[in-house]
Amino acid sequence: MSTSQPAVLIVGAGPTGLAFAIELRRRQIECRIIERRSGPSDTSRAITVHARTLEILEDMGVVERFLHGGVRNDGYQFNFLGSDMKPNLDYTRLPTRYPYVCMFNQNETEKILRDHLEHDLGLAIEWDTELTAIEQDSNNQVTVTVQRSGSAGTGTETIRPLWVIGCDGIHSPVREALEFKYEGSEYDGLVMQMIDVQLGNFSGTDHLLHYHISKDTFLMIGKLSGPNHRVLVSAQGDVSEIEQQDLISPIVKLHLPDVEIGEPDWKTTWEIWIRKADTYRKGHVFLCGESAHVHSVAGGQGWNVCLQDAYNLAWKLALVIDERARPELLDTYEREREPVTEQVIAGSTAVHEIILSHGGGLEERMALTQTDGWQDDAVARISGLSYNYRDLIEVPDGTRSDYEPAIGDRLPDTEISPHLRLHQLIAHTRYTLLIVLPVCSDEALGSATEVAVALSARYPWSVRVELIAPDIPHPWSGILPIADPHGRVASLLNTSSAGEFVLIRPDGYIGYRCPLEDGARLEAFLATYLISQR
Ligand SMILES: Cc1cc2nc3c(=O)[nH]c(=O)nc-3n(C[C@H](O)[C@H](O)[C@H](O)COP(=O)(O)OP(=O)(O)OC[C@H]3O[C@@H](n4cnc5c(N)ncnc54)[C@H](O)[C@@H]3O)c2cc1C
Repeated sequence: MSTSQPAVLIVGAGPTGLAFAIELRRRQIECRIIERRSGPSDTSRAITVHARTLEILEDMGVVERFLHGGVRNDGYQFNFLGSDMKPNLDYTRLPTRYPYVCMFNQNETEKILRDHLEHDLGLAIEWDTELTAIEQDSNNQVTVTVQRSGSAGTGTETIRPLWVIGCDGIHSPVREALEFKYEGSEYDGLVMQMIDVQLGNFSGTDHLLHYHISKDTFLMIGKLSGPNHRVLVSAQGDVSEIEQQDLISPIVKLHLPDVEIGEPDWKTTWEIWIRKADTYRKGHVFLCGESAHVHSVAGGQGWNVCLQDAYNLAWKLALVIDERARPELLDTYEREREPVTEQVIAGSTAVHEIILSHGGGLEERMALTQTDGWQDDAVARISGLSYNYRDLIEVPDGTRSDYEPAIGDRLPDTEISPHLRLHQLIAHTRYTLLIVLPVCSDEALGSATEVAVALSARYPWSVRVELIAPDIPHPWSGILPIADPHGRVASLLNTSSAGEFVLIRPDGYIGYRCPLEDGARLEAFLATYLISQR
């Protein structure tokens, strides 16, 4: 598929661009994805795949490949030099099908996403194709110039897509050309160095990420799939000077004198910053992933958060392109993701202060790990499960605000029966309207039927209705009801005994909920963004 006027041009085939393309192609949106590299990257970089990311990868249909190839990691252990105190970030109690960190190299992650995109969804990456210029006129018509080289032949091409998604990373040419600001703060010359390497005499379990902290040094060791460990250290100084040095051996020796370090497969040295774009959108151009934000490596949330940007925006854009939703839906991307970026920056900074604030007193840093709720809060954030869009979704007047889970929260998961989990019910590309009936009365069924029939007729391609009840004798309005004899969904969602509508967005967050008698509000909510097909 190659047209000079695609609906969407995705710039960059890193994890964000690949995920964005997958989400569009799942919805049959015509798009192109260009990449200036001549082929796949073979460097491991990101190694942590967190719980919320695994849930999203399940929806995309690729999670089993991650579970098959990754190392399951139960959390993080903090070791302070000279202290027996070893606080843990324990993932095993997380309320998800994936209560762990899956250790998986970024080049392998990108391969899985790329294979899915190319082989299952029919979109090839255009390698050796570099965006060299981008302009947008006052009517939001975007003109992109690309330079082809190598395998793509030579020459320039002008592309006029309806929409451009800048997934072009931290130095984003899209962001630079269109003069988005990208501001933040430095970590005063903090430089990271890492290697992927075989270790001898390392006695730490493969199933934890080991943080070793002294007053002036930081060391992280984590098991990768295959023979290697990831060994990462930090130092203060100038990156170009540090690049020439071996920081790793002395820091490993300080914390773990018996450990032997083999010949590294890959070594890299880099600086970390905090940066955030002043806006994530100008006209028909969006920034997504690291082009929009970057933060401390502490906790390893980087690509996980980038993926969630793509997962938030792509379904909205697809609905707008298909003329099933109003363009105003796209304004919710920045409204929802910018506060999450702020939370990610705050969360990673909190971990950073414990592990990477060199020179700071160890006692004070240890004390931070003992503050009330620190562990649960850190795990909920780093896993990605606690990020939500509470109070960011506009709802009709009179909507109750005391739901738990609330409008804007991630839909929690539960096993409805041995063969069906709640998240499987929403693993498709539309909204899911759950009609949850803790008790199946004729009156409740009557109210639910009326609204469901009306909405199914109005939004046949955008909303799928599922009725969940303890026991229903007959098919209902043409929809096979889901039997939930133990009332697990009603109990998980704290639905009132009279029954509720719970609308789940295509990205798995609760878009709206209300009692059955409030069906008119649900209809008003959907009409705010969705276009009736009748
Ligand atoms: C050493 C290291 C370790 C890391 N560890 C972790 C970790 O453990 N956990 C974690 O979550 N994150 C980690 N990260 C961060 C993670 O790698 C990034 O968050 C992630 O790569 C961002 O994805 P992206 O797609 O937004 O950007 P990128 O991966 O940077 O992809 C951008 C793509 O755009 C392409 N591009 C740029 N300009 C153009 C152009 N003009 N035309 C066409 N294409 C262009 C680039 O070639 C690139 O392929 C680590 C990063 C590093 C460097």
